[in-house]
Amino acid sequence: MSLTLTVDGERWRSHLRSVAETNPGLVPVVKGNGYGLTLGRLARRSEWLGVDTIAVGTYTELPDVAQRFSGSLVVLTPWRPFVDELDPALAARVIHTLGRVADVEALLARDPRARFVLELRTSMVRHGFLARELWEAADRLRQHPGARLEGLALHLPLDQGSHLGEVRRLLNDAVAAGLDGLDTIWISHLVGAELEWLRSAYGDFRIRPRVGTALWLGDRSALRVTSTVLDVHRVDRGDVFGYRGRTAPRSGHLLVVSGGTAHGIGLESPTGESSLRARAATLARGGLDAAGFVRSPFSIDAKLRLFAEPPHMQASMLFVPGGTRVPEIGEQIDVRVRYTATSFDRIVVT
Ligand SMILES: *Cc1c(COP(=O)(O)O)cnc(C)c1O
Repeated sequence: MSLTLTVDGERWRSHLRSVAETNPGLVPVVKGNGYGLTLGRLARRSEWLGVDTIAVGTYTELPDVAQRFSGSLVVLTPWRPFVDELDPALAARVIHTLGRVADVEALLARDPRARFVLELRTSMVRHGFLARELWEAADRLRQHPGARLEGLALHLPLDQGSHLGEVRRLLNDAVAAGLDGLDTIWISHLVGAELEWLRSAYGDFRIRPRVGTALWLGDRSALRVTSTVLDVHRVDRGDVFGYRGRTAPRSGHLLVVSGGTAHGIGLESPTGESSLRARAATLARGGLDAAGFVRSPFSIDAKLRLFAEPPHMQASMLFVPGGTRVPEIGEQIDVRVRYTATSFDRIVVT
């Protein structure tokens, strides 16, 4: 009766192992909804993988992972003075991210033994130091000889061609700032050959790739998402149904399947082309999308089906036109989801 994620355990674990083997210094990213797999499960998997550090997104995620993973915990969201005091038992394991000179001072004033990385502002322009600010931070740090600088952090945009020019420029500036004890670079979204280049061009530094999606979701063939058919109703053209009293545009079946807005199931883009001319052509043909039906992420016999109306909270209504096979109540049908925005009722690892 549920939206289920089934993981082929053997396949998934072998993918995880191969990513860990080909990415020395790997830092698994364990944040948000745990990429659909839950934070707790990913924390335990990271322990099993044998890495020494994982990265969470926010301070509030620390309690979800701290008991299940025994190593160091990077927090990716930059520390700010309004972040709550850490549990002392946890403080020694946490690596903060700093992105402003004022925060370097404030964190060290609160905890002189705090571990931290300095984030550089990349073309993402999300957080981090510009070059001249980093020089200032380096100056301040010289007044705190006991400070525990754990490296530089760079968060690069996705798939924007080569990152190497940007990385070289940022790192050369950063190295010139003269940060004492700098020996590690934490980086995301560099792949294969780019990572190799970084390792050889900056051979004095330890390179630590932070990887989420390509690790946990990198082998999609190990993952299958299914919904349960909960009910099936035959309808004739003109029959009224649903919350909004729609009428069936032709005969067929209404299917009620598990998975709705509470799971993160949303409306997809309208079917077919959206240009006016295309819409007019569809209207003329009397297609189902002309009746206002929108494509759903649910598929039956490998064909995506239409929502009969917008998804409900825990179930969705699909329209299956006459002449196509109608699944039985209890049957599992496939669903395409965005894993990072979906919460499953059940996760089964085989
Ligand atoms: C989310 C995140 C990552 C991991 O991103 P993926 O695309 O899931 O690998 C790495 N670094 C930072 C700073 C992040 O916020």
